[in-house]
Amino acid sequence: MRYLVISDIHANLTAFETVLQDAGTPGEDYDFVWCLGDVVGYGPDPNECIALLRTLPHLCLAGNHDWAALGRLDVRTFNADARKAVTWTRETLTDANLAFLEALPTTFVLGEFTLAHGSPREPVWEYILDPLIAALNFTFFQTPFCLVGHTHTPVIFEKVGESESEPHTPQYNTRIQLNGTRRIINPGSVGQPRDSDPRAAYAILDVSSMTWEHRRIPYDVNAVQERMRRIDMPDRLITRLEHGW
Ligand code: ZN
Repeated sequence: MRYLVISDIHANLTAFETVLQDAGTPGEDYDFVWCLGDVVGYGPDPNECIALLRTLPHLCLAGNHDWAALGRLDVRTFNADARKAVTWTRETLTDANLAFLEALPTTFVLGEFTLAHGSPREPVWEYILDPLIAALNFTFFQTPFCLVGHTHTPVIFEKVGESESEPHTPQYNTRIQLNGTRRIINPGSVGQPRDSDPRAAYAILDVSSMTWEHRRIPYDVNAVQERMRRIDMPDRLITRLEHGW
């Protein structure tokens, strides 16, 4: 059984389509999609991204931007640019797609994996940005492995000792064996990478062989930027895509 693991599509249809092309055919190259939240927010294609996700066998979690689009969050906690994107997204989403977002769970446990958008401790909110925060989170899930998104940075935190964790930068297109130690793994972001690498990020998890593979793939950033200009998105949100921050 192979999972295509994606997160933080952020309404970027071009990046999402490119990832799906690169990942191959559902039923052949992977069996199921795990999407770790933030399907919408920032990008120009919220309805199209939800529609495309729904064509695939998938499980999707709720992210903070999905909740913001539903009006579940006080958007005063967002900066001005993000707030503008949230307002546009909320006004643009169809009723059916709002209902889709409404129904998303915040965590999910299957076999040896716990899934959350942010962290097992605070599923919608917390950013696991460093080894200390990762270390604190290992007591908040029972399975050997936890998959998270939210930081838009691909990484693996490995539990070492009683209360520490060690970060590992991904080796792309290389399968690593998941056994022995507990890990918190982030596949990175499809639609808005923030690790100074503008390429879309995703991962393939094979639970039969227990292997994980981080991948990156370039996509047509200009095409997305052009659509963002047309709907008058803030410049900062448009330029960040070509720099990956
Ligand atoms: Zn996000």
